[in-house]
Amino acid sequence: MQELERGITLPPVIIKTIRIRKRYLVALAILAFLSFYLTRAQIDRAERQTVEVMSRALAGRVIVVDPGHGGDEPGVVGESGVEEKEITLMVGKLLAENLARAGAMVLMTRETDSDLSDPATAGLTAKKREDLARRVAVANDNMADLYISVHVNSFPGANRSGARVYYQPGAIEGGKAGRHIQSALSQVLKNTSHQPAEVDYYITRNTAMAAVVVEAGYISNETEEKLMLDPVYQSKLAWAIYAGAVKYFAVENPPTQKQPGNEGVIQTFKEHEGEILQEP
Ligand SMILES: [Zn+2]
Repeated sequence: MQELERGITLPPVIIKTIRIRKRYLVALAILAFLSFYLTRAQIDRAERQTVEVMSRALAGRVIVVDPGHGGDEPGVVGESGVEEKEITLMVGKLLAENLARAGAMVLMTRETDSDLSDPATAGLTAKKREDLARRVAVANDNMADLYISVHVNSFPGANRSGARVYYQPGAIEGGKAGRHIQSALSQVLKNTSHQPAEVDYYITRNTAMAAVVVEAGYISNETEEKLMLDPVYQSKLAWAIYAGAVKYFAVENPPTQKQPGNEGVIQTFKEHEGEILQEP
């Protein structure tokens, strides 16, 4: 992900969400099926059972899943031409499904290949600014309990690899969530020994709840680039992030901004639809 300049303040954005469409429900059912069975085969049984028992801590939590980039903004690009935005969306959808099945209210910032900026907004910087501000607004306006932004890393040269979690410097809850998610990633993927790191990103700085950026791996590493395109590996990534979120709530038990009646529903922020997004 790319950092935007500091200190941007934008007027509050009113986000309304709508119930998911039939088409999306079908896609979700397929994803759920794949995710469930692929993951079962890959994750240690005892660990699965532990997380399953703890997962009741997710009931009623509002969790924002933010697949990074989208639309004209591909993010980092791999040797094969694969773009970060594709991987983040696939992992994000699987993650959302895991969380929703456990009873969380999941808000996705996007479900298609598009960013959140208004099509009428001109200029890349202005569009990026609007895009990020709206991602943050989805979390803040809905008083989310946890914000998980999924991204893909890149580094000059091919040596670096491994999933890594980032959180806002000094953020107590972000740090706790980051450590649980990093630990689950290490345990499930068995190919990363990174520690969570503090980085000052626009989205983690401006979100009012525990917020993490999960970099799923390095697209600059050929092996990891291939792995991140593998549905089974994507499923493991999503499950690990989910398991980390479960442990964060179960162990740390932060205060919840519960919204009764909305549990288990995945809602998606729809950009490009005038009636959905209203700015004062
Ligand atoms: Zn990114």
